[in-house]
Amino acid sequence: MASHLTLDRDALRHNVAVFRDLVGPSCRVGTVVKGDAYGHGFVHVLPTLHDVSDVLYVVTAAEALAIRAHERSSGAPRRPVLVIGPLVGEELVALARAGVAVVVADAGFGAEGRALVDAAAPPLEVHVHLDTGLSREGFLPGTLAASLAPLHALGDAVDVAGVLTHFADTEDVTEQDFALSQLDRFDRGAAELDAWLASVDRPAARQRHTAASAAALVLPRSRLDVVRVGISAYGMWPSRETRLSTRLVHGALPELRPVMTWRCPSMLVKTVPAGSYVGYGCTHRCDDATRVAVLPVGYHDGYPRLLSNRAHVLVDGRRCAVLGRVMMNHVVVDVSRVPDDPDHVVATLLGEDGDARVTADDLAGWAQTINYEIVTRVGAHLRREVVGAAP
Ligand SMILES: *Cc1c(COP(=O)(O)O)cnc(C)c1O
Repeated sequence: MASHLTLDRDALRHNVAVFRDLVGPSCRVGTVVKGDAYGHGFVHVLPTLHDVSDVLYVVTAAEALAIRAHERSSGAPRRPVLVIGPLVGEELVALARAGVAVVVADAGFGAEGRALVDAAAPPLEVHVHLDTGLSREGFLPGTLAASLAPLHALGDAVDVAGVLTHFADTEDVTEQDFALSQLDRFDRGAAELDAWLASVDRPAARQRHTAASAAALVLPRSRLDVVRVGISAYGMWPSRETRLSTRLVHGALPELRPVMTWRCPSMLVKTVPAGSYVGYGCTHRCDDATRVAVLPVGYHDGYPRLLSNRAHVLVDGRRCAVLGRVMMNHVVVDVSRVPDDPDHVVATLLGEDGDARVTADDLAGWAQTINYEIVTRVGAHLRREVVGAAP
């Protein structure tokens, strides 16, 4: 049997409730389900996150339309959905018809937006992205009147409903100076936007939003009308620094519960004699006779090759070292310390086993990356089982 994931609905609900508690009743809580729900599996987590979120954020038109399809098939109420990624004309038309809002982040929107006029689509709700310091998508404040003229030319085909920005440096620091300077620029940019909207007889933008998980946790001023919670909805801290700052800002540390557990049954267990090498490149040599389990999981499944000779898995609550290189479809682990010389084991690659746990942060540390990349790269082909109370 191949490796498989267990996804905990109750943990998803708990994590969103943590944010509700933190931001209070005047701020809404939206969740981000891009990247196949941070690798957890969009279709698996959507029913639960849909149930507990005020807004859903996606990157593609297909994801947004899949949310509308879920609402139709399940009878769930229609939630606001915002597409934060780039779109072409025919997608804009489909989204306008589906009542999905989109982000306008560059001048190309004017040309793509002509499709809305040509199709006589219903008004498309747009949120204007301001680049306040990330130098990724968004308009630079100071240029809005000129930049947004092509948007205005689309007339009633667009409804400017919101304004947003995204922080560059909230996760890697405990001092939020750069984020505060971005917030100042955002306030000026939003005022500039409203002044321009008034000058062209359009109503002011109704919604302002800036905070992803880290800012929502550590920078109360950034919360505004709604927070866009990604990584922490899945039970992970954006960084160590965020965790430390959250404790300082709130005087206590809310508990985030990891949603994903990744387990793998062994394909075989055997004892190799002293002096044996393990895996490609013969990078591990067994000094003594060693009981090893071969696990049918590898870098194809998203278990990073950088974990070679570095990570451990859990078997019966005990740490078992990864021996030698992680291969495309195999990992060999040392099960010598597992009692009773079992001939079959189930290894926990990520998650809890007894009193022990391997976190996405542990894997990220060994693999020289961040927890976001660890979970997002877990194979979409792996079997997923959702546990916990149904929505
Ligand atoms: C991905 C993303 C988020 C969520 O970020 P997390 O750090 O995962 O909470 C929020 N806003 C935008 C624009 C994003 O691209």
